[in-house]
Amino acid sequence: MRTAPTILHLDMDAFYASAEQASKPSLRGKAVIVGGLGPRGVVATASYEARVFGVHSAMPMAQARRLAPNAAYLMPRFDFYRAISEQVMGLLRVLSPLVEPLSLDEAFVDLEAGSAAWDEASARLVGAKLRADIRAVTGLTGSVGLAASKMLAKIASEQAKPDGLVLIEPGTERALLGPMSVRILPGVGPATGDHLRRAGITTVEEIVEAGEDEVVRLLGKAHGHGLYAMALARDDRAVVAERDTKSVSVEDTYDVDIHDRVRVRLEVQRLADRCVRRLRGAGLSGRTIVLKVRRYDFSTLTRSETLRGPTDDPAVVREAAGRLLEAVDTTGGVRLLGVGVSGLADYTQEDLFAQAAGEPEPLEEEAVEEAVAEESVSVERQWRAGRDVRHAEYGHGWVQGSGLGRVTVRFETPGSEPGRVRTFRTEDPDLEPADPLPLISGGPVESSSEPGRVVESESRLGSGAEG
Ligand SMILES: [Mg+2]
Repeated sequence: MRTAPTILHLDMDAFYASAEQASKPSLRGKAVIVGGLGPRGVVATASYEARVFGVHSAMPMAQARRLAPNAAYLMPRFDFYRAISEQVMGLLRVLSPLVEPLSLDEAFVDLEAGSAAWDEASARLVGAKLRADIRAVTGLTGSVGLAASKMLAKIASEQAKPDGLVLIEPGTERALLGPMSVRILPGVGPATGDHLRRAGITTVEEIVEAGEDEVVRLLGKAHGHGLYAMALARDDRAVVAERDTKSVSVEDTYDVDIHDRVRVRLEVQRLADRCVRRLRGAGLSGRTIVLKVRRYDFSTLTRSETLRGPTDDPAVVREAAGRLLEAVDTTGGVRLLGVGVSGLADYTQEDLFAQAAGEPEPLEEEAVEEAVAEESVSVERQWRAGRDVRHAEYGHGWVQGSGLGRVTVRFETPGSEPGRVRTFRTEDPDLEPADPLPLISGGPVESSSEPGRVVESESRLGSGAEG
C-alpha cells in the first residue's frame, strides 16, 4: 500500500436532488425526492432536507410519500445529470489519467499517477481546490475523501458529507476502523452484517479478533479472505481508468482442432479459472460471463449470460461458461476458445454475501432509468413532473404537476428568484417542452492548479440559455 494519502474519492452530495434544487430556486432548502413516481417507483435520491424524515435512496416511493407527504416529488432527468457529470469528470481528468468513475456522481482518482499530489499537504490542497472548482463549474457541492487506499478514501468521503473534505493519515487506518460497524467495509450490506452479528461480530475490530479462519468459515473463501484483509485496512486495489475496465478475457487457439467434447469442457473450465485470476488481480468483479468459440470452419460465435450481481468466484464463472457451452454445437471441432467477464464493477459496490443469500440488489441507476422509462408511457406525455418547459408569454419554467387535462408550471430559472405558479390546459399551444438551462452561466472557468489549462465549462445543458 502506498504511504501517502493520494487516492481521492469524490462523491457529489445528494446529486440528483441537488441538481434539481439548483435548477429550481423554489425547491432550495426544501425536501426534494427524485425517483420513479409510479406504483413500483423507488427513491433514487432524497435531498438532505428529505432525509430528516427518514427518506433514503432505494426506498419504495409509497413509503417515502408517507414519511414526507409535503416533499416535492420529481422524475429523474438523466440527460441533465449526465451533462453535469461530464463536467465533474472533466475536472477529475485534469488531475490524473487514472480516473475510475463508479457512477454518475462518484469516482476514484489516483493523484500520484497524475503528479497532482505526492504527500499529505499537496493532496489536501488538490482536494480543496477540486471542491471549489466543482462548485464554480456546476454550482453543486461534492465531498472529497483522501487516503492511501480506495477503501479508506471512500470511507473518508462518507465522513466528509455533506460538502466537506476528510483526509485519513496513513498509519491511522486501523485505529479509525476498529470501533466502526462492520457495515463500513466494502461489500458488507445488510445480509452480511446480520450474518456476522449472529456470530457476535459487530465492529471491524471484532472481525480482526475473530481471526481469518473464523471469517472464512462464516462467509466462505471467496469473501472471507478479502473481508479480513479489509478489516486490517489492507487494500491494494489500483485505481483503474474506465477504458481499461470494460472486460477481462482470455482465449487460447489450438494447433489441432479439438473434437472431444469432454476436452472442450475442460478447456473452458481452465480458461474460466485463468480469467478469474486476472479479474481478481485487478481487484474487479463482473456480472456478464462471455464464451467465445471459433469452430473448424472459422465461424465464430459468442454467447453471454448476465448474473444478478458481479462475481469473482471461479466456481460461478466456470458454471456459467459451462452452461453457455452446452448451447453450442462443437461437433465439427474447435479451433479457439475464450472466456471473458464484462460488466465490471469495483467490488466495493455490492453486498457480496447478499448475492448468495438471494437478497434484492441495491438500486442501480439503470434500474431507476428503466422503471421511469416504463412508467412515463402512462404519464401525460410531455408534462412529467420536474421537466422544463417554455411558455410563449411567461418564459422558462418547470412542470410542478399535471392531471385532469391541466398542467401546473412554476416559472423560474436557476438564476432567478423563486417563481410563481400558473395552471394551463395540457394542450395549451403556448406551452412547449424545453431543454434544461445551465446551472451556472458565464464563460470558461480557469483552473488555477494547472496554469494555462482551461477547464471546459461551456455548458451542454441547453441551447439559447440565459440562466
Ligand atoms: Mg453521491
